[in-house]
Amino acid sequence: MPKVITVVNQKGGVGKTTTAVNLSAGLAVLEKRTLLIDFDPQGNATSGVGIDKDKVELQIYDALIGRAPIEKTILSTATKNLFCIPGNINLTGAEIELVHEFAREQKLKEALQPILNSFDYIIIDCPPSLGLLTVNAMTAAMEVLIPIQCEYYALEGVSQLLTTIRLIQKNLNPGLNILGVLLTMFDKRVNLSLQVAKEVHRYFKEKVFRTIIPRNIKLTEAPGFGKPIFLYDIRSPGAMSYLNLANEVINRSE
Ligand code: ADP
Ligand code: MG
Repeated sequence: MPKVITVVNQKGGVGKTTTAVNLSAGLAVLEKRTLLIDFDPQGNATSGVGIDKDKVELQIYDALIGRAPIEKTILSTATKNLFCIPGNINLTGAEIELVHEFAREQKLKEALQPILNSFDYIIIDCPPSLGLLTVNAMTAAMEVLIPIQCEYYALEGVSQLLTTIRLIQKNLNPGLNILGVLLTMFDKRVNLSLQVAKEVHRYFKEKVFRTIIPRNIKLTEAPGFGKPIFLYDIRSPGAMSYLNLANEVINRSE
């Protein structure tokens, strides 16, 4: 069985997509057969691995509503061992269309069944909300990974997120576990970054990953070229840190 990990935080701009793309690529570099699912209508993870989100024929939405077999939605990428199910603006429709469906929170979980044995890891990139898409992602997953940006109000919204996770554990997915909390965009020259890191450690204790993702311009640039960091600048601090994270994720989850 693959490890299914959902990258979640209802705040935008905290590094979810950057983490989903580069953690997936890092796992692939470490020879793990990895599937990245873009579950955000913005489609940034899709373009982040070099797929034109507006030109894809099939995407996760088609599998979600049963319009296409999920196998047909999987695309290969320029990174060996890294596959992607794209997502784009059509996904916004799913949030509305699924509302009246039976077991609407379980659609992604059901859709994934046929491909579970084809991968070592499945990483899901979530939209910046706790709506039906994110609930589906957390119902389909075994683990959640929470990126927290080392910025003002870092922990804002976290208690609401934890409440949602507890509700999902209680009602939909008892096995759901918090794999870890990831500090992102850390700048050691900035006092605030250190303060936030301390605060997050106090709150989440051993759940915080030892790997900290630094603020690194290469991580900002890479998506513009449709490349995970390892294809863009393998020597950058961003690449090193996401490789470390991939190792830590393997150690924690296996
Ligand atoms: P989210 O998916 O949570 O909205 P993103 O991963 O898209 O967040 O990140 C928001 C912005 O910050 C993007 O422009 C991204 O390139 C940039 N970014 C994310 N992580 C880093 C980092 N460690 N260093 C520099 N820029 C980053
Ligand atoms: Mg995103």
